[in-house]
Amino acid sequence: MRNEEQTGRRDVLQHSRLGSAGAGLASTSTANAVVGAEVEEDQVAMADGDVSCDVDVLVVGGGTAGTIAAIQAGRAGAKTLLVERHSQLGGTTTTGGVAFPGLFDAWGNQIIAGIGWELVRESVELDGGTLPDFSKVPQRHWENQVPVNMFLYAIMAEEKCTQAGVQIAYYEFPQAITETADGWQVDCAGFGTRRRVLCKQIVDCTGGAEVVGMLRLPRLREEETQPGAMLFQIGSANDPGRGQLHALYVHGADSSNSRTVTKASMTGRKAVLAKVREEKQRLMHLQSEPGFRESYRIVGETMITVNDYTSGRTYDDAICNAFYPVDLHSKTGVRPKPLKPGTVPTIPLRALIPKDGRNIIVAGRCVSSDRLANSGLRVQASCMAMGQAAGATASLAAQHETTPLSVPLAEIRKLLREHGAIVPGDASPG
Ligand SMILES: Cc1cc2nc3c(=O)[nH]c(=O)nc-3n(C[C@H](O)[C@H](O)[C@H](O)COP(=O)(O)OP(=O)(O)OC[C@H]3O[C@@H](n4cnc5c(N)ncnc54)[C@H](O)[C@@H]3O)c2cc1C
Repeated sequence: MRNEEQTGRRDVLQHSRLGSAGAGLASTSTANAVVGAEVEEDQVAMADGDVSCDVDVLVVGGGTAGTIAAIQAGRAGAKTLLVERHSQLGGTTTTGGVAFPGLFDAWGNQIIAGIGWELVRESVELDGGTLPDFSKVPQRHWENQVPVNMFLYAIMAEEKCTQAGVQIAYYEFPQAITETADGWQVDCAGFGTRRRVLCKQIVDCTGGAEVVGMLRLPRLREEETQPGAMLFQIGSANDPGRGQLHALYVHGADSSNSRTVTKASMTGRKAVLAKVREEKQRLMHLQSEPGFRESYRIVGETMITVNDYTSGRTYDDAICNAFYPVDLHSKTGVRPKPLKPGTVPTIPLRALIPKDGRNIIVAGRCVSSDRLANSGLRVQASCMAMGQAAGATASLAAQHETTPLSVPLAEIRKLLREHGAIVPGDASPG
């Protein structure tokens, strides 16, 4: 798909699609548009910062799950665009500073591998760090989380995207979405840029299922969400990939929109300033925004309940494993409830597919699940595994010109295995 001859498609783009006044993208000839502007090979230039591109898979949100989804789609041969509103990849793992992904193992075995694990492992190795021994069952669940150097992780994620042929668009986000005969037209905005994207499949990895919300497909959220946290360090310098940062709860932290993120960021920074004054120590490190634990979840073709999660239900359409205690934070803190020995929950494909949605799939903490199940499912290794499954499914759906729900499961699982993932029921890589 990536090697498809582009010229014909570009002509169509220039002459038919851009003529529509709908989203206000002005069309000019390519020759005019390129003057004075640097235009990447894969996009068509129009007037003053207007660009268009025609891809198989659009991944929105280059965070914990989205980065992996995009790499998987690219490696599977899908022409892939990744749109990220921030300036780097990694999301909560990097921008949020929660740089200790888990859990890749359960009960002495590795249960999540694939592209997320490859990125975590390689970034730890380059950083001279130590990987946990998954054959040993730790006393406390968090001991097998893997501290990563968030700076290195973000750069290596970018490198892997580039190597997979994924085009990255930072500082951009979708503004309007229209269904087309064979997919979507997504109009994105960034500063100095208006981008019209034609794609066959969308993978929504925005954390809070923002694209699903724009499409007015059903989502769930709690009236009062779990607290977020502002990560920082006072007193001594931060040693990335080794020590953990300090964290302060940000109550009411809500990632839904720019207004709520502004409020949470200012609340978090104010609390850090108060801490610095109280402790009379130097501020040595501060993340640029808080980490958000909870906002919207999709209503999917199926919903994972806490009973499904804690009983380790193996779904017929299971596409990856997950593992973490039930971990609901409140104003007073958190008391994780560990899973019973031997239990390994699974994630069904249908929990990634919005009910009544076509040509869209999600991955990450917005997975269709009740609140308690979600408190365990939302951790990073599980988000990465979901991302890989969603990227694989979207690329196959684009290739077959069908919907994610109609892609044969055997093909998804085959593709995932070819790219190093563990499918529920498979033996661990050892
Ligand atoms: C304080 C805290 C502590 C945690 N502790 C742990 C832990 O110890 N271990 C663990 O494994 N997990 C932990 N988690 C959970 C885990 O980090 C998150 O649930 C997980 O990283 C979410 O991944 P995601 O891909 O769904 O979202 P994110 O990683 O948040 O990625 C979403 C991405 O989408 C981008 N985006 C959002 N909206 C748009 C838009 N409209 N257009 C373009 N881009 C957009 C964002 O900028 C971001 O890059 C913790 C979370 C928090 C907040």
